[in-house]
Formats: sequence, structure tokens, C-alpha cells
Amino acid sequence: MLPPEYSLYDEVEMKRPHPCSARSKRFQIVRVGADIKITCLGCGNIIMMDRDSFNQKIKKVIAKNEGPIKIFGKK
Ligand SMILES: [Zn+2]
Repeated sequence: MLPPEYSLYDEVEMKRPHPCSARSKRFQIVRVGADIKITCLGCGNIIMMDRDSFNQKIKKVIAKNEGPIKIFGKK
């Protein structure tokens, strides 16, 4: 199956939750290049992975954004 079309700052849902206390499946794309960087919207941690891995792990695009989402409760 083809991955959904995504671009920088999109809010996306991943197939698996981030293993943090928030267990969030919602992430924001913060960099698109040879590697993809996503921020967990539950804890604010940034995860980097190559495009192939990302394409396999993304479930869907939730929303388009103009810029970075402010993460509440981030320390
Ligand atoms: Zn997290």
C-alpha cells in the first residue's frame, strides 16, 4: 500500500504509539529530507528515521499546519 501524501508540519498518526508516558500516536513532521524528523505531540521528543521507515510507519495525515505546533506541558 502506498503511504499517504505528507509534507512539512503535517500532523500525522502513526501505526504505533510513542513509548512515552503519553502513549501518543500523534506526531508532527518537523523535517523532510533524506531523513524524516517527527515530534511526539504527547511528550515533545523528536524522532528521526529514514524515509522508507517513515513510509511504513505512518498511518494517516490528520491535519495540515503552517508551522510547528506548540506542545503543551513540554518541559
Ligand atoms: Zn512521546
